[in-house]
Amino acid sequence: MKTIVKKRSWAEPYKMKMVELLKMTTKQQRIRVMKEAGYNTFLLRSEDVYIDLLTDSGTNSMSDRQWGAFMQGDEAYAGSKSYYHFEEAVQKYYGYKYLIPTHQGRGAENILSKILIKKGDVVPGNMYFTTTRLHQELAGGKFVDIIIDEAHDANSEHPFKGNVDLNKLDAVVKKYGVEKIPYISIATNVNMAGGQPMSMQNIKELRAYTKKHGLRIIHDMTRVAENAYFIQQREKGYEKKDIKTIVKEICANTDGATMSAKKDALVNIGGFMATNEWDVFEEARNLVVVYEGLHTYGGLAGRDMEAIAIGIAESLDDNHQHARVGQVEYLGHKMMEFGIPIVKPIGGHGIFVDAKAFLPHLNQDQFPAQALAAEIYIDSGVRTMERGIVSAGRKSNGENYYPKLELVRFTIPRRVYTQAHMDVIAESAATVFDRRKSIKGLKMVYEPKYLRFFQARFEKL
Ligand SMILES: *Cc1c(COP(=O)(O)O)cnc(C)c1O
Repeated sequence: MKTIVKKRSWAEPYKMKMVELLKMTTKQQRIRVMKEAGYNTFLLRSEDVYIDLLTDSGTNSMSDRQWGAFMQGDEAYAGSKSYYHFEEAVQKYYGYKYLIPTHQGRGAENILSKILIKKGDVVPGNMYFTTTRLHQELAGGKFVDIIIDEAHDANSEHPFKGNVDLNKLDAVVKKYGVEKIPYISIATNVNMAGGQPMSMQNIKELRAYTKKHGLRIIHDMTRVAENAYFIQQREKGYEKKDIKTIVKEICANTDGATMSAKKDALVNIGGFMATNEWDVFEEARNLVVVYEGLHTYGGLAGRDMEAIAIGIAESLDDNHQHARVGQVEYLGHKMMEFGIPIVKPIGGHGIFVDAKAFLPHLNQDQFPAQALAAEIYIDSGVRTMERGIVSAGRKSNGENYYPKLELVRFTIPRRVYTQAHMDVIAESAATVFDRRKSIKGLKMVYEPKYLRFFQARFEKL
């Protein structure tokens, strides 16, 4: 019998129990507020935004189970029951021995960098992340990029663009010596490369190398579940393993971690540092009191720790992760059909539009990605962000970093939007693409000293 259904559709594996109403704006209103915000999407008021793709950080929808657990948070100052639930989840699902809660990822980065890095140290890593590198530098270290070359090439379709280039690492080790290297800093599903994974093979090779040289691996595990999804989809021998198993195997090949629970772990605030080393834990327990809070809450409410414990488990469910990355892939394929230049392969947490290819008539000093993000907001109220020269900031000698990638990031919050929203986003990007030749560059008129992309202001050229 011939069936009339050619392709079976897919839908999100959740339903809505509560909705948040959105304000609809006109183009005239958006032109005005974008100008008032200095053409920086970070400076828009969220109520003026229709679909918010600024970040997937802390923008997750929590499940009914997480909200239920919120009511059961133990708000004791010391020894909170919720801390022990949190610790149990970290040990069970990630396998790290010791947990230090922090208010978010950068709190963990601060403490870890202060403990491990001395002035003059060198920290090799698979591409920088804004807050991670800054904490390494503030502690007196220097970050050296050892990611494979393909990660800097928007057109490369390498399936594991997050991989470490072991030859680059070896050159750093030979140049500075192991005593100058407190740890290798690896991120899974590298954010700044466009949400690109590391392969298990690469992680294992790195582990073998560091064992041989007596070096530590510290894992920025903010997006480890998304990385595990790609290993399952792309790496031989992992097709039949579930995400839980793969995540545990990744963590087992590292010595400690920092985590922003605002991403993978499906909450709105929180993070932690984890380690397998007693001495490092001991020192971290001392320092956390100075910067975050007592070692059994680290700046978090008991209810936050309950929600993280459940979020960790939910994030490792295969159906969740397939839907999560599947939604990103759906948007990416739609954009490609419109001919919009995007970073490939499609990453885990968003679509990265190549602003250099989109606006070839602008040079990098005219902030093409910043300008494009502003145009997309004006077209449809979709808020995206710049990941290019503005985000890269300046070197310690004051010169601008000129990153090879000049991107606009369309980051998809977890469990928040539907496929219909994805259609609206792709069509807006395509509308702006149609009139790309008329888009002008920007000049920076206010520049903050640290992490300038958050608050810089621009004017149209
Ligand atoms: C978000 C993020 C961080 C920083 O975490 P915060 O919770 O924002 O402080 C660190 N590393 C990566 C890869 C991230 O995506």
